[in-house]
Amino acid sequence: MFRATGLKGRSNIMKKNKMDIKKFANIKKTCAVCGGALDEPVISYPKLPLTETYSKSYDKTFIKGIDQYFHICKTCSHSQISNCINPSFLYGNNYKFRTSESNASKNRIEVFVNFLKTVIGGKSFNTIIDIGCNDTYLLAGMEKFAKKLYGIDPILKEREKHSTDKVVCIGKLLEDTDIKEIVAPSKNLVLSTHTLEHVENPKEFIVKILSETPHETLYVFEFPYFTPLLKRNRFDQIFHQHMQYFSPQSFEYLINSLGCEVVKMGENYHAWGSLLVAFKKSKKRSFKKITAPLNINRYIENILKKYEDFKDSMQKNRTTMLSLDDKIFGYGAALMLPVVFYHLGINADIIDTIYDDDQTKNGLTYANLPVKIMIPEDINSFGKKSILITAFDNVRPILCRLKELEPKNIIVPINVF
Ligand SMILES: [Zn+2]
Repeated sequence: MFRATGLKGRSNIMKKNKMDIKKFANIKKTCAVCGGALDEPVISYPKLPLTETYSKSYDKTFIKGIDQYFHICKTCSHSQISNCINPSFLYGNNYKFRTSESNASKNRIEVFVNFLKTVIGGKSFNTIIDIGCNDTYLLAGMEKFAKKLYGIDPILKEREKHSTDKVVCIGKLLEDTDIKEIVAPSKNLVLSTHTLEHVENPKEFIVKILSETPHETLYVFEFPYFTPLLKRNRFDQIFHQHMQYFSPQSFEYLINSLGCEVVKMGENYHAWGSLLVAFKKSKKRSFKKITAPLNINRYIENILKKYEDFKDSMQKNRTTMLSLDDKIFGYGAALMLPVVFYHLGINADIIDTIYDDDQTKNGLTYANLPVKIMIPEDINSFGKKSILITAFDNVRPILCRLKELEPKNIIVPINVF
């Protein structure tokens, strides 16, 4: 929802004195959930590259990376990064991701709708509002549940004119939208999926929604959370765009502190492992107080141990790649590719070409990584090629595809869940 500035604009800013980045980043010193002071970072990512940097050409002046810090709050167990970079750096217009074009997102939405049905039963609403709705794919599937539906997302600017009597597109950020003007007096449902993790101040975000919606409104949010990331050792999923890494406890604490209570929680095991939470404003006057988890230090020690395992595994993959005599080809020109290379500790010169089946990426590269992206058209067999799977979130479909293409070696740097 915060994809406001084109990569070109971002690139120009990045070319300036690198010290300028400090003007566009906000170093957080307090926990986004409980407001407690942040301790020293648990993990530091020096010069972590930006992601989503597809470009027609490599730009050697593009900033190489920005230091990032990952913290765990010892009071409420919430995790967050502390170097919050201005969204205008983080998102580009050339980023073409649309939910309706992504099978993984479609499956995610199916899980979301099934969860929602278990909460609402056969109930229908006067209004459904989807905040950070991407291309309204979710809303389209919700039409039978409401009289009127609103999608709020800046990427909808061009589509506002295609609004119908039933589904209205609002091409704005939440902070520029007056929800009071669109809610019904009763029976409102507010959805927000895969948005909260991108928000620097989630408390403000939720307060705005709560203050502009009636008391009986039902809120259903979905966002990637920290527990599955940790379980699967996916420390590559800590990156600049995701500012918040909730635990079920820290999210419940956050909404309790705003006078709300959980109606139901669920999980989508796929799609990075996300938490689904239905909540509502509560009539309760007080909630149980947050107390520091008794074993918080052990929890942090465990995180550090798992991070060491992750680094170790990336290092072993790098050693394997360097020991192969053949040139290596990548498969999967992922949005996250610069971060994948960062953790593997490899440069673009180790990889000949990155193959990807998405036609729209054919011939592109990354502004901060000089690799060539190609569609493997007319290739029936990879024969003697060694393939590194470079899209960590699409390992399964890529493995299926590689079964047809029969490369000599396949390097899969992560476990597949
Ligand atoms: Zn906290």
